Amino acid sequence: MQISQLQLEQVNHQIEALIAADSFYGKKLKEAGIKGVSTSEEFEALPFSEKKDLRNAYPLGLMTAPEEKIVRIHSSSGTTGLPVIIPYTAKDVDDWAIMFKRCYEMAGITNMDRIQITPGYGLWTAGIGFQNGAEKLGAMVIPMGPGNTEKQLQMMMDMKSTVLCSTSSYALLLAEEIKKRGIKDKIHLKKGVIGSERWGENMRKRISEELGIELYDIYGLTEIYGPGIGINCKYENGMHYWDDFIYIEIVDPVTLKPVSDGELGEIVITTLVKEGAPLIRYRTHDLSRILPGTCPCGSPYPRLDVIMGRTDDMMKIKGVNVFPSQIEEVLQQFPETSSEYQIRISHLEGKDTMRIYVETDGTVDFADLSERIAEKVKSKIGFTPLVKVVELGVLPRSEKKTKRVIDERYS
Ligand code: ZN
Repeated sequence: MQISQLQLEQVNHQIEALIAADSFYGKKLKEAGIKGVSTSEEFEALPFSEKKDLRNAYPLGLMTAPEEKIVRIHSSSGTTGLPVIIPYTAKDVDDWAIMFKRCYEMAGITNMDRIQITPGYGLWTAGIGFQNGAEKLGAMVIPMGPGNTEKQLQMMMDMKSTVLCSTSSYALLLAEEIKKRGIKDKIHLKKGVIGSERWGENMRKRISEELGIELYDIYGLTEIYGPGIGINCKYENGMHYWDDFIYIEIVDPVTLKPVSDGELGEIVITTLVKEGAPLIRYRTHDLSRILPGTCPCGSPYPRLDVIMGRTDDMMKIKGVNVFPSQIEEVLQQFPETSSEYQIRISHLEGKDTMRIYVETDGTVDFADLSERIAEKVKSKIGFTPLVKVVELGVLPRSEKKTKRVIDERYS
């Protein structure tokens, strides 16, 4: 998606505000002698923003609007070191609610729905984002917050909740609990709006089947408003995002050069109208791609594919960037293989080799399957891997996230 003239003008306003406020990024832009951009090339030369910078601006270094206009802060929980503090003006809060309302509408949710919100309220952006969007829509909110499954189920039955907002893991827990208690006929859920952690097709199927609901993936991050900047429509053809509020580029995570639409890379987001803490070219480290063409739903908003992992998962093999999700995608086209696989990368006689282990049952010709998979992988990533087909149950399984990529080059 090339940046439009209007978006460039909006970026210039963001740059002006940052410099005028002399905020953390304002100083950086000033030092770099940047006053504005007039072409997409100039835009693509702007420095990136990084999470570590945002931490360095702790506590209020990102604040770009005058204090009297700031109505709220949110914070992303830092697992290490300082958290990131994002100040919001009343307009930011309202813009976020407008985007979130659009998400609900994209999912076919109306003011006659009853929305049960289970993500947490507080410093982080989850619960309150779901809430503000639902109120903007005019729906009835049941603001539960996380945990207390007993009460969740009671309210879900008594209030006849029709929409569940949740993480995928909590949705699954609720689905299992409903099944165990045999109360499915008392549940009125029709739709689930699920926070955008990466989750597998199997989990999605289980939640959707056991609860009998349609699922929608919502995307967002605290640094850029919070959840609600994009969601899939009923065609499940990627997530529409609101390009009148944000500009999204996909860049190669190594060269940091923008890639073409359709190509996989890192999501980089620029806010277009934010006041409290505008961000220019913020590196999310989330992997996805922009889907070219128009969606069957007819929406004019562009689409991001589902999040396929983090840039940290990237492997460099024979000079090519490879992501486990690309291999997974190929394997999913072979129903004769199980959902387990393992990738081993080694360096032999001066050359990188990639071996992919897959499982199948005894009814399949192993050599033939191996050849067909190798061919498909080659067309996807550009070189031929060694595909080893093994019996069902041979590959390791664990309760926790199974380690699927083993890089023997550095061990
Ligand atoms: Zn659509």
